[in-house]
Formats: sequence, structure tokens, C-alpha cells
Amino acid sequence: MTDYVISVPVQPSLAVLGTDARFPVRRIYCIGRNYAEHAIEMGHDPDKEPPFFFQKNGDNIDDSGEFPYPPQSNNVHFEVEMIVALQSGGSNISKKDALQHVFGYGIGLDMTRRDLQGEMKKMGRPWEIGKAFERSAPMGPLLPAAQIGHIDQGTISLAVNGQICQEGDLNQMIWKVPEQISYLSEYYDIAAGDLIMSGTPAGVGPIQKADVMTCCVKGLPTLIVEVV
Ligand code: MN
Repeated sequence: MTDYVISVPVQPSLAVLGTDARFPVRRIYCIGRNYAEHAIEMGHDPDKEPPFFFQKNGDNIDDSGEFPYPPQSNNVHFEVEMIVALQSGGSNISKKDALQHVFGYGIGLDMTRRDLQGEMKKMGRPWEIGKAFERSAPMGPLLPAAQIGHIDQGTISLAVNGQICQEGDLNQMIWKVPEQISYLSEYYDIAAGDLIMSGTPAGVGPIQKADVMTCCVKGLPTLIVEVV
């Protein structure tokens, strides 16, 4: 057994419905502007852009049901997304082989310090400070594809305090899940434990302390997160 000079950091992980065993998380890849209406609301033309990804850190996930309002921002936005969890990976994976690498699916929030992201965009700097901060990726449990099959359509929505803000259908993704996996694998060695946040539909907006976000994807367990 390897001896470490400091204690080993906790392995981030997600619950899996139907078992006590947990899914260990390695990287989190997030696709940007993957629903046409959301690309438009962010001021972009959805037809002309190739896909692009950014990352959150594995330890940004949080399954406590609480999202602490983060520091250094006055404009924190919700983005509800379907999570794709990989059980294997590789490089240069074809679209037709992509889904065999999927362990399962879940619901997550790509919480965003929109003001900081906007400043970084303006200066041509990385978005990380707006995206990859403490507890910025609230997530629910995973459902194994072995049980429910693969998901490529169905309503995705987010309500704040019972009022619907975001609503779309997974079939509106510009880049479908197999395309996302294939594309990522051209640039990275994707691997077991990686999560993909597959993009958010239109209607993103700010939250305040004490707001309750209710996130739904058809066929997946509802994720409820309170801002504290
Ligand atoms: Mn997002």
C-alpha cells in the first residue's frame, strides 16, 4: 500500500439507485450552449458553432440538497442538465460505439457565477472562476442504463419555488450524447468515473437565498436543492 505524506483527499462520488455502492467521480465535462434557445438567450447563433466544453472539478459535486450561496458574486444562475456517467472510456470513440461507455444518467445543476463568467468572457479569459467553484455541481443519484436504457428524449425542467423557469426536451440538444462522447474522446482520454453535463435548456436565471430549485428530467428522480 502506498504511503502518502498527507491524508488522501476524499473520493467524490454519487449515489446509485438500487444499490449501496457509489459511483466514483473523476472529471466533469460540461458542454456549453447545447440547446438552441439557450444559445440564443446567451447572445449566440446556435447554427454556426462547433461544440465546446469546459470542466468543473470532481469535488465540486454535492448531493446534500443544499447549495450555499457562493462568495464574490451577486448574480448566481441555475442551469439544469442531464448528467451522463461513464463506466469506461478511451480515445477516438465512434458515435456508434459511444453509448456502450455510459453507466447511467442523473440530474445535475451547473451553478454559475454569471457576473464573474461575464467578466472573464469580456477579457477573453477562462470561465473557471464562474463555473468550477465549491459545491457548484449539485447532483442527484444515478440510474443505471442497464435498468432504464438510454435517454435521448423527454422533458427537462427547473422550477424555482414552484414556478417553472426552464423547460425543454432532451431531443432539442444540438449535440446528442453519443456525439458529445465521441467529440470529447478526440481531445481527451475520457475514462470510467467521468461525468458529462449535457447542456441546459433556455430560461436560466438568478437565485436568492432560501429559494428552492426543483429539477426534473423525465424518467429520472427529481432533484430538489435549497439555496442556503
Ligand atoms: Mn451548463
